[in-house]
This record gives sequence, C-alpha cells and structure tokens, in this order.
Amino acid sequence: MDGKARRDALIIGAGHNGLVCAAYLAAAGLKVTVLERRGVVGGAAVTEEFHPGFRNSVAAYTVSLLNPKVIRDLDLHRHGLRIVERRLANFLPLEGPQFLKIGAGKTSQEVAKFSARDALRLAPYAERLEKIADVLRDLVLETPPNVTAGGWFEALPELLRGAHLGKRIAKLDMTMRRELLDLFVKSAGDHLDTWFESAPIKAAYGFDGIVGNYASPYAAGSAYVLLHHVFGEVNGKKGAWGHAIGGMGAITQSMAKAAAERGVEIRLSSPVREVIVEAGRAVGVVTDQGETLRARSVVSNLNPRLLYGKLIDPAALAADFRERMQHWRCGSGTFRMNVALSELPDFSVLPGRSLAEHHTSGIIMAPSLAYMDQAYLDAKQHGWSKRPIVEMLIPSTLDDSLAPKGQHVASLFCQHVAPTLADGATWDARRDQVADVMIDLVNSHAPNFRASVLARQIMSPLDLERTFGLVGGDIFHGALSLDQLFSARPMLGYADYRGPLKGLYMCGSGTHPGGGVTGAPGHNAAREIIADFRRGRLKQA
Ligand SMILES: Cc1cc2nc3c(=O)[nH]c(=O)nc-3n(C[C@H](O)[C@H](O)[C@H](O)COP(=O)(O)OP(=O)(O)OC[C@H]3O[C@@H](n4cnc5c(N)ncnc54)[C@H](O)[C@@H]3O)c2cc1C
Repeated sequence: MDGKARRDALIIGAGHNGLVCAAYLAAAGLKVTVLERRGVVGGAAVTEEFHPGFRNSVAAYTVSLLNPKVIRDLDLHRHGLRIVERRLANFLPLEGPQFLKIGAGKTSQEVAKFSARDALRLAPYAERLEKIADVLRDLVLETPPNVTAGGWFEALPELLRGAHLGKRIAKLDMTMRRELLDLFVKSAGDHLDTWFESAPIKAAYGFDGIVGNYASPYAAGSAYVLLHHVFGEVNGKKGAWGHAIGGMGAITQSMAKAAAERGVEIRLSSPVREVIVEAGRAVGVVTDQGETLRARSVVSNLNPRLLYGKLIDPAALAADFRERMQHWRCGSGTFRMNVALSELPDFSVLPGRSLAEHHTSGIIMAPSLAYMDQAYLDAKQHGWSKRPIVEMLIPSTLDDSLAPKGQHVASLFCQHVAPTLADGATWDARRDQVADVMIDLVNSHAPNFRASVLARQIMSPLDLERTFGLVGGDIFHGALSLDQLFSARPMLGYADYRGPLKGLYMCGSGTHPGGGVTGAPGHNAAREIIADFRRGRLKQA
C-alpha cells in the first residue's frame, strides 16, 4: 500500500495518449502517476535498436496526425521533437513497367501518363477532400455529443454540443454535405471510382482506406478510414506525412519529458492487473507486483476491451455494458516488419541504388483497388495473400541517426493478414513464412532487396498484441467503423471520456477521434477530467 500522499490521477499505460493526458493534468496542478507495463514509454510509438547499429520505429512509423495544439501546448520541439517532410509523398512501382509518383509538384504530370482526364480531376478532388478534412480537423479536439440516459439537466449540454457540431456542418454547402455523407458511409473504392478512371491513382489514394482496416477497399465505411488518414499535417502542410528524427520514439520521449517537467511520476515495468472499485467508484489500482495505489481518478490508456474485459471485476459493470464491450470490434490485419539493409532497393521500374527522391517516399506496393480487394479475399480464406499489400518506408534516407553510414533501415507495413488464422495455427508458427512472402513481394519490384536484408524484426498480429497490448493487433484500439466512431466510441453514452464508474476515465485510441499518433484522445480526456475536478466531482480516495 502506498502512503497517504495526495494523488489526483493514476493513468494506466504510457502510450502517447497516456503521456499527453498526464502532461495536461499536471499542467492544471493535478498530481499524476503513470503506470506502464513495458520497460519503455510510448506504447505503439517507440524506437528500438533491432540489430546492432540499426534502430527504427517498431510499430507506428510515420507522422502526420499529431495535433499541432498538442505539439505547442507540450512544447515538444523544446523537448527535442523534430519532424521532417519526405522529398516525395508516395511512389508506386507498377506493372508495365511503369510507376506513379505522388507529391513534389509532380502528381498531375504523373497521373496524366495514365489518364489526362484524371489529371484534371486531381485539383477538384483535393479541394473537396480538404474541405471535409477541415471539418474533421475542427472536431478532433472536441468531446463528441454524449447520448445521455438522464433528464433535461444531463441532456442540455449534449444538445448544445450537437448544435455546435450542426453549425460547423451548416457551413458546408449542399454539395459538400453530400460529399461528407459519402465519405462517412461509402466504400473508398466506390468513392474513388466516381472521381477517377485509371487504376494507379485510385490505388495511391485508396491505400489509406485499408490501412489498419481489415476489409476490401469496396467495403462500406472504408472511405471514412481514408479520410481519417488525411486530416493531419506536417509542419503546417496539410495532409502531408513526415518523419520524426530518431523515429516515432522521439515523439513519445519528448512527451515523457514534457510530462516529467510538469511533475508527472512515470513508473515503468509496472503492469496494472486490477482497477479497485469501491461503492461503484474507481479508487485505485493493483499492480502485478501486488502494490496498491489509490487516487481520486483512474484513467485508462488501454484498448477498452482490455480495460473492461481484464482489469475490472465483472460484477462492477452492468451486464449489457460488459456484453457490448466483449463485441468491441478489434483486429486490423496488419503485419509489421523492420529490416536492416546493406543498400537501397533498386527498383526495376526506376533503376538506381543511389539515394533518389522515391527512396524517401511511402512506397506502396499494390497497383490497384482490385489487387487490394483480392489480397483481402485471399487473407480471409488462407490467412494471407501471396500478393500482399506492402507500404515500405526507408526512414534512414531522411535520418542518419538510424543506421550506419551507407546502410539503411526500412519499415514494411503490410496489410491484410488475418488477425487470427482460420486453420487454427498460431501466428508463432506462421510468422517467418509470412515474413518471407513480404520480402518476396518487395523483391519482385526491387530484385536486389532480398540479398540486401541483413536482419529483420517481425511483428505478426499476435506479436503486436503481446508486445503492445493491441487486441487482435488492432492498430486503432478498435475498428474505425461508423458504429464505433464519434458518439459511439467506445459506446453510446460513454463518448465523453468518462467510464461507467465514477472516477473512471478513458484517454486512449478507443475513444474519439480514434487511432493514430494524434494526442487528441489524451488531450480531450484531460479536459473532461480537469472539468470534473473543478466541479468538485472527484473526492480524495
Ligand atoms: C504496426 C502499427 C503501425 C502504425 N502506424 C502508424 C503510423 O505510421 N502513424 C500513426 O499516426 N499511427 C500509426 N499506428 C497507430 C498508432 O500507433 C496507435 O493508434 C497509437 O500509437 C495508440 O496510442 P495510444 O496511446 O492510444 O495507445 P498505445 O500506444 O497502445 O499505448 C497503450 C499503453 O498501455 C500499456 N499497457 C497495456 N496494458 C497495460 C497494463 N495492464 N498496465 C499498464 N500499462 C499497460 C501498453 O504497454 C502501452 O504502452 C500504427 C500502429 C501499429 C500497431
């Protein structure tokens, strides 16, 4: 049992959202302790040395969604964060042999190689997407209207929030409102088919619709996932993706420094095994080591299914709540690898082993939406596809702190493997076989690739779950489907970061606005917790 010292908040998990939440709470004068299961902070945003001299982001690998207000408020640049832009946004090696480059002022001439009509459609497409993304940008730091079970007193603030949201949407003209509806409910494929006729540009944009989304690009709702990936920015450039010098761990290290500077206590290697509930109120936690810590509030950075399924006595939760949480949909079908490389890949469609702009880009190996659809169907049936979807990024082309001079590290973000295998095999039995499939795919585009691999780090969906606590390997802490978004994230009635027990809060990606390294759930949860402290709702435990 810890002493009688006042503790205002105990945060379970030092993922980036736990750290952001902690820093805001501490800035408001609250006394905060963060308990992290692993020996390092950062959750899915960490950098590790995976082979002597070679370091890389282990899971999340590229930055865009990190909210500028969070960067500013936590003064992350002063704490060491530096983000650089890619020289080219994307490169797609295609059959033919052809390729498509996106970004660096080249997209229009590149797309015109495949369709003059599509090249002309790029600007109006971008303009509309941008306007919708702006609506989303406005909403990411808002608490969604919460569906309340109480009377007028409880409902009024929520109605006002709803009206506020309505006002934002009312700023859009009718054409844009129709577009907004399309992007929330349609498939990425159907949406892109209405805009473009050539396969490569649809593949380049459609890739965002299946990232972390184990579904066909023609599955309803995938257009929203696409939208989710474009509301970010890099150093003020909207929609761009960049690289944090030192890898994604540099982001969370800077957050940990900001939190520590404000007086937050961070305890590593301290897994929480239970949330203590007394008289319907969360009053503390018990760690795996058997230590009891008490606080006026308990805040979870975990996937909600983990929190409610593993850490809270079922008797403390309503049966209907528990059952719904058991069906919280998780499992993104992603397979992640890091490779140490002796040289840069030499692409058949754009030969050369010397550093060129395409080596700095997100290299998407999936030439069409039909290819992605087939990869999904294969994975459903066999667990993975022999023609999988891989995005490769070589961050050492932008950051010489990651690999020895002249050598490189690459991140392979592979989509559409089954979260659990239909034949009953475990991912431990298939990990290396599937890693070979991914290497083979890259090798089919860059024939020097396989021989250049010096070492590899492999993360199957099971590894992602074991290492980071990502249920089913779900990169977002729960699918970004309409039934699990906004006022329904993680459940209607609990979208305001408050759990079903007094004193219990959620600050992870299982809350609005969902996954990605955004800092937004942590920021929003802190605002609600601080408000409850100011209203005197949280008493000394
Ligand atoms: C393979 C992969 C690639 C991705 N790529 C990108 C990308 O390029 N860009 C991007 O923006 N997003 C990306 N994402 C998504 C993004 O990384 C996550 O959505 C985000 O990092 C989640 O942050 P979080 O703070 O909400 O939770 P997490 O990062 O999951 O943190 C939760 C923390 O809780 C800890 N924990 C779990 N159980 C306990 C316990 N019982 N006691 C104490 N601590 C516990 C965990 O160890 C972890 O540190 C990717 C994710 C993955 C997995």
